[in-house]
Amino acid sequence: MDFDFSPEEQKFAEEVEQWLVENHDPVVMDPTRENFTQLADTPERRDFMKKLAAQGWLGMSWPKEYGGQEIEGVYEFILNEALARHAAPQIGKGVGIIGKTLIRHGNDTLKAEFLPKILTAEVEFAVGYSEPQAGSDAANMQLKAEKVEGGWKLNGQKMWTTSAHFADWYWLGARTDPDKPKHDGLSLFLIPMDHPGLEVQSLPTIGKDTTNQVFFEDVFVPDDYLVGERGRGFQYISEALDLERFTMFTLSPISERSRLLTDWVKVAKRDDKPLKDDPNVRRLVAHIATDTAVAKGLSVRFVCAAMSGGKPPTIQSSQYKLFTTTLSQRVCRDALDITGAAGQLREGQEDAPLKGRFEGAYRATVNETVGGGSSEIQKNIIARRELGLPKNF
Ligand SMILES: Cc1cc2nc3c(=O)[nH]c(=O)nc-3n(C[C@H](O)[C@H](O)[C@H](O)COP(=O)(O)OP(=O)(O)OC[C@H]3O[C@@H](n4cnc5c(N)ncnc54)[C@H](O)[C@@H]3O)c2cc1C
Repeated sequence: MDFDFSPEEQKFAEEVEQWLVENHDPVVMDPTRENFTQLADTPERRDFMKKLAAQGWLGMSWPKEYGGQEIEGVYEFILNEALARHAAPQIGKGVGIIGKTLIRHGNDTLKAEFLPKILTAEVEFAVGYSEPQAGSDAANMQLKAEKVEGGWKLNGQKMWTTSAHFADWYWLGARTDPDKPKHDGLSLFLIPMDHPGLEVQSLPTIGKDTTNQVFFEDVFVPDDYLVGERGRGFQYISEALDLERFTMFTLSPISERSRLLTDWVKVAKRDDKPLKDDPNVRRLVAHIATDTAVAKGLSVRFVCAAMSGGKPPTIQSSQYKLFTTTLSQRVCRDALDITGAAGQLREGQEDAPLKGRFEGAYRATVNETVGGGSSEIQKNIIARRELGLPKNF
């Protein structure tokens, strides 16, 4: 198997790199927001996505009949990783998750309304699966969707809905059939975020950014805005989560942090002695470099194939997410060990090593091992689906 890019793919990577350098804007590209920098949550960042769309780079792997170019997923992978490396907004939920799920399962009305807007970066989404009693056990969602004339009436609560405070549309699961087994009683809906009866409250995260909880009071959803078939929501959500696990957890920021740490180790001193001579420090950075190379192999192998369309690969998505997000957290934890007590100083504080980057990055990377399904849940999926071990919940 050849892990190198072909000359055409390499040419595209260079084109994207040059475009990103020419369009560099510190207001849009903020590496200190870590994984949250992928969100198009300000007017400047939304404009950036529109410029990206004008390049014809959104939805490259989508079928031609829906405005895509039907080219290999490797191009989407190259683009998304380059965006992440530059700390720019990324293809995210619209192109990478909701668009692809609508193409597979959405009705004609939803495809006609949303797919063109996704490709022109005119719509941002929030994703609502988690609830107070449904996090790891997503199938336990209790948000009630009651059948009424011409549609559905929604009442209840969602937790941890990132993007709800700026998104245009809400992609969410709700219980339409409470008498059926829990996995069969859920359906997926799309509703406008400014709908009367929706109340969004901010929730801080351990990182710099916030997420939200959302309350629903008699929120009406017309029949056409039910995604796919009633009662099959959990299947669609599982597929969407598989897509999320490689689209929204990119590798480039981890490589960049590893490089930043290694470059610093080469010049920094502790007690007047060069850190680069410390055997423990050398061991830690060598281990990080090795695991980053392994993660790169995993991402090229799994993610490029997964981005090409079709049913998303569950086991590979979990393996990729588990390996990269735990590595992401370990790089930051090791960086805090290496930088010592001063490593706890925050961004902007005098004497903070590496401008305080790793203090913030460590907190932010904790989020990565929870959002999109925790590391324990990824291990459960791998144990059950790859290794054939029994279900434990
Ligand atoms: C920054 C951030 C952003 C998020 N954004 C969104 C979003 O946009 N939309 C959305 O729907 N959700 C979002 N989430 C929610 C996320 O998906 C959940 O937090 C996650 O699924 C865990 O659920 P929980 O918080 O309820 O924890 P719990 O499910 O209560 O888990 C608590 C602990 O128990 C462990 N655990 C639970 N069950 C098992 C088991 N069977 N075996 C072993 N260990 C287990 C978990 O790994 C965890 O360590 C976000 C979370 C974070 C942190």
